[in-house]
Amino acid sequence: MAIGRGRFAPSPTGDLHLGSLVAALASSLDARHRGDDWLLRLEDIDQARAVPGAADRIVSALKLFGFVWPEPVLVQSKNLQAYENALDLLQTQGRLFVCHCGRGSYQGAYPGTCRHVGRLLPEEPRPKSGVAIRLNTQDSGTLRWQDGWQGWQQQALENDIGDFVIRRKDGFHAYQLAVVVDDGAQGITRVVRGMDLLDNTPRQLFLQRLLGLSEPEYAHLPLVVEPDGTKLSKSRSSAAVAALGPTTALRLALKLLRQPEPPTVLNNPHDLHTWAAAQWNPTVLSSVTHLHLP
Ligand SMILES: [Zn+2]
Repeated sequence: MAIGRGRFAPSPTGDLHLGSLVAALASSLDARHRGDDWLLRLEDIDQARAVPGAADRIVSALKLFGFVWPEPVLVQSKNLQAYENALDLLQTQGRLFVCHCGRGSYQGAYPGTCRHVGRLLPEEPRPKSGVAIRLNTQDSGTLRWQDGWQGWQQQALENDIGDFVIRRKDGFHAYQLAVVVDDGAQGITRVVRGMDLLDNTPRQLFLQRLLGLSEPEYAHLPLVVEPDGTKLSKSRSSAAVAALGPTTALRLALKLLRQPEPPTVLNNPHDLHTWAAAQWNPTVLSSVTHLHLP
């Protein structure tokens, strides 16, 4: 049987914080427990939000925290041709159109305003920026998947989301496109990531279908929140991770993930990873949507 592949794909919009450490650890332990490889990708496709130096600091922190990956890091900003090739294929299928609708010109799902008038013909040059390019979701049907931890999920894509942006007005490729192309290129078989991306999954399933890519399994993790249930303060929690240091922060992340407490003799990141991967039991996360900081 081929070895499966998991991944962690942070956006370098700040330093490693407790929420991203928990996602990194859960995806890594999940892969190691299965005997799968675990890969790293930097999702810096949105260069407008990338913080200078953050990518290097995240990679350094992950190494310091005992994470290991067997292949070079895939960096999205260096992979633009792959996204353009995917756009070419979607354009050949007649799925792309340019959209001039301004922000706030509609509410809820995109109503398909420019679907026909803006349609890009197969060989037509695509505008490089200044106008958004959307994907026609006609006949996408209801997309369903059995989430590893959140149960059966479904979405009627055309009604619930509508034709979505695949290359942004500022010229950057949309996250939805880059993530699908990269998961395909890296041969990812199982995606473990935060619940905040749960409702993005149907858009990615639809793109996989159009691009002829195989569909990975998905397992969505509960989100780390402040003790009172409010959104995690990323700056405060990245400072906290740095202050705690690798061993203590990993123990806290395991506690948040409701995993057994490692014996006190395990006092380095490498041993903690090895022990926790053998013990990994994600069933305690089933249908859990939030993990409260102590
Ligand atoms: Zn439009």
